[in-house]
Amino acid sequence: MSDEPKRTVATCPHCRQPVISTLVFGGAEKYCRHCKQAFGMFDVDSVEWTAELQLIIDADRAWFAPIAVRCIAHGMRRRDCPQCEGGEYHRAHASSEAMADSERAYRELLG
Ligand SMILES: [Zn+2]
Ligand SMILES: [Zn+2]
Repeated sequence: MSDEPKRTVATCPHCRQPVISTLVFGGAEKYCRHCKQAFGMFDVDSVEWTAELQLIIDADRAWFAPIAVRCIAHGMRRRDCPQCEGGEYHRAHASSEAMADSERAYRELLG
């Protein structure tokens, strides 16, 4: 018997594919690329890690990252933004182009 904790993968309650952890959806920290849906962290299932699942996770993250970076979440500050460093949330001073792009990115993520 080993006390080593088993490595697990969080999975979508609908399609059983792995989900991505993210902060771009307020209150829903897990995202399924396959269903284009966000879930709360207690709403997802989990399975034992496998190399095959890791390949899916890597591909999902590679797909997700460039879209998610365009999302301006509520209550989010950007590290590279002087106005955010001044204490404002990024939404309070983001340009209308950036906000429109954020809305497009959210639509791409949530279908
Ligand atoms: Zn799913
Ligand atoms: Zn900012």
